[in-house]
Amino acid sequence: MSDLRALPSVDRLLADCDALIQAHGRSVVTEAIRAELATIRTSRPDPLPDSLRILGTVTASLQDAALSRLRPVLNLTGTVLHTNLGRAILADTAVEAATAAMRAPAALEFDLDSGGRGERDSHLRGLLCELTGAEDATVVNNNAAAVLIALNTLARGREAIVSRGELIEIGGAFRMPAIMEQAGCRLREVGTTNRTHARDYREAIGPDTGLLMKVHTSNYRIEGFTSQVPAPELAGIARQAGLPMLNDLGSGTLVDLSRWGISPEPTVAAAIAEGADVVTFSGDKLLGGPQAGFILGRREIIAAINRNPLKRALRMDKIRIAATEATLRLYRDPDRLAERLPTLRLLSRPEAEIRAQAERLAPMVAARLGCRVQVIACASQIGSGALPTETLASAGLALTPSPDGLAERLRRLAVPIIGRIHDGALILDLRCLPEDKALLDALPV
Ligand SMILES: *Cc1c(COP(=O)(O)O)cnc(C)c1O
Repeated sequence: MSDLRALPSVDRLLADCDALIQAHGRSVVTEAIRAELATIRTSRPDPLPDSLRILGTVTASLQDAALSRLRPVLNLTGTVLHTNLGRAILADTAVEAATAAMRAPAALEFDLDSGGRGERDSHLRGLLCELTGAEDATVVNNNAAAVLIALNTLARGREAIVSRGELIEIGGAFRMPAIMEQAGCRLREVGTTNRTHARDYREAIGPDTGLLMKVHTSNYRIEGFTSQVPAPELAGIARQAGLPMLNDLGSGTLVDLSRWGISPEPTVAAAIAEGADVVTFSGDKLLGGPQAGFILGRREIIAAINRNPLKRALRMDKIRIAATEATLRLYRDPDRLAERLPTLRLLSRPEAEIRAQAERLAPMVAARLGCRVQVIACASQIGSGALPTETLASAGLALTPSPDGLAERLRRLAVPIIGRIHDGALILDLRCLPEDKALLDALPV
């Protein structure tokens, strides 16, 4: 049995910790030493570790604790807009705009022309209207908030009519029926899961109706014997009844993606042109900006939403307004969008380029990790519920054996590498790795 009295005291150990105290602060270092001594007293290793060994363990645990849990990772999952990995990465100009807004006061609600009070949404309204043809626009924290405040403003205490084929769950607690309840309106489901007709909406309209709603079924497809009422027809039914029509696009996009070989999602401009009174969509899905929720549509409806007290609770901060403005500006020049907007750049990377990269990297990855590495074809996903059945031909590395162990090893790196396990291998889809160096720097030497 080891003699615990031989262990050095906390003060004795602290005396050799100048550099650690400099880096982490005295109280944190003292606490880490106490914790390590307590562990040794409980486990009573024989022989007892000397001061040098104890301080080595303390240093390692302090370094580990100092790493941010929200640190950058390499997303090699093959899902470009990965919700759990933070969705879109921002364009350089957006990052710069956000940084500038953080470093100094900004004219957020200050009108530089008159010197009087300005409006925080004014920075984005002009661009949003220009890019979509909408009459007016406002912004909130995310698209879930956009839907919530739109429903609450237009249909509180009344019914919102939605097709049974569109009662989506986006993930987490975002389920259309739950959002309706929080917004204070009553969900009035019409039609069936696979088929809803114009007459279903017409027959449901009554004195209690607040609005007609269309929801983009962004993360699933209903195929086969199906029928939904197209947005222009639904807008017509709403207009006839003197009711507003809300179209929740989910991802939405400001440009026709087919130009870059991605099958088209509904554009916001089309949804506006189709006669919706209000359209909602996300900032950090296909649009490629920071988390945000956009609400576009008729002037008096946007004004009513801006007067809703919820707006204050759901508003965006200056950092994201700055980054959103810079992101939207890129859409004024669609010809250079794919060069400048990382989301589009990644989505439109040619398969041949990714495969060449995989061939280049395979031997180096095998050498660094000491495992078997094979170049494979794989299929990337867009993610975030956009175009759920669409995949993009890609290439990657299949790592074997023991994929679980490899996955854990790669997660523990200073820049964790996140892949996905499939068919007994750890797959690293290289679509979201524009530069070899990022992977080589992250791997153990
Ligand atoms: C993603 C999505 C939402 C929620 O948007 P967030 O920006 O994630 O809050 C709402 N509706 C639809 C149809 C969606 O696809």
